[in-house]
Amino acid sequence: MLRINEKRLLSDLNELAQIGATADGGVDRPALSERDIAARAWYQRKIAEAGLEYAMDGAGNQSAILPSDPPSEKRILAGSHLDSVPNGGRYDGALGVLVAFEALRTLKDNGIAPAVTLEAVNFTDEESAIMGLMGSKAVVGQLTMADFERSRVDVNELTRRFSAVGITRESMLAATRDDVLAWVELHIEQGTRLESSGVDIGVVNAIVGIRSIHVSFRGEAAHAGTMPMDLRRDALWGAASFVLRAKDHVMRNYSPGVCNVGVISAEPGAFNIVPAEVYCALEFRHGSDAEMDLMQADLIHLLEECAAEFDLSVSYAATPPVIPATMSETVMNAIERAADQLGLSHERMLSFAGHDTQNMANIAPSAMYFVPSVKGISHNPDEYTTDADCVKGANLMLHTLLELLRSLSKSLPQFGGGI
Ligand SMILES: [Zn+2]
Repeated sequence: MLRINEKRLLSDLNELAQIGATADGGVDRPALSERDIAARAWYQRKIAEAGLEYAMDGAGNQSAILPSDPPSEKRILAGSHLDSVPNGGRYDGALGVLVAFEALRTLKDNGIAPAVTLEAVNFTDEESAIMGLMGSKAVVGQLTMADFERSRVDVNELTRRFSAVGITRESMLAATRDDVLAWVELHIEQGTRLESSGVDIGVVNAIVGIRSIHVSFRGEAAHAGTMPMDLRRDALWGAASFVLRAKDHVMRNYSPGVCNVGVISAEPGAFNIVPAEVYCALEFRHGSDAEMDLMQADLIHLLEECAAEFDLSVSYAATPPVIPATMSETVMNAIERAADQLGLSHERMLSFAGHDTQNMANIAPSAMYFVPSVKGISHNPDEYTTDADCVKGANLMLHTLLELLRSLSKSLPQFGGGI
């Protein structure tokens, strides 16, 4: 059975981790920073050394390309991102790009010409140094000029970073693609489910949607000493009751969904004044949009109950939601068949973090899979996935691509199928 070159993969992973390396063993490569640009140059050089074709699109997304013969109009894409959060770990994103690259190199080394052109992609700005999931958003046509105004770096810095890699706002908006036959991504789990169950691979069946609501409870300011307790309209009593009841409610009725109150503030905000107004930011996540509708209705009902219980008023405003992304059965099945061939155990699970795959799912059958993260640590220099798991993940990428080639090439015109 065909296997990737373990030594080469692990040595590349180590070499890449030296770019933007931090003293504590992590990496610091925010998108289009000098360090990220150095990692991008490294990837381009590696692609040339491997004898693969190189391309960069208008969004700065880099691809290693293994062309089919004759070149197919449609392509199967795999990859992830080389940028990192500030002071992040060496596996998040980087491993996903390198396993896709290694799979293409292995095919080339073995003289295997794929039936469909394959690409190993490095997406620009996955980790939100600029706006997050930017490169994939451009590819699927969801990027707008207004997004640049919401960028986390100012206009001059944005222009400087873009010109450093030869892209512009206009070229980003023109980077849409309609040639993607399928997309697959390997990522570290960033959680502990695989580690605690001892399962090799997590096949992601949905990337959760995210909804957030700004909430304000209003009561009445009063003297914290003289106002009798039974006459107080304490806005924080309502908010506190809500936070705990929402937790119980979501755990009991919406598992594996999650909710969080991550911001809370009281006005006037003094030791000796009963809180008149409490603001809190509520966020909740689930893999099903229908379940999220129910969750939202329930949580709002709970807000009103908690307000009524303490004689408060409550107002709330929702921010634009992130819709859950459902993964493709075709691609999930390809991953699972490949895992079975390699003797890797697998189970389906939700991804609670955002990934480029959620964008790619808008234009092509897409799926992703996880390899274990030791102790679930990520976005942290201590992020770690064992060499053995990196190698398993890479062999799985190789065989998933072979499975996708087998199942999807039949649908292409040059193979007599016709889409
Ligand atoms: Zn990532």
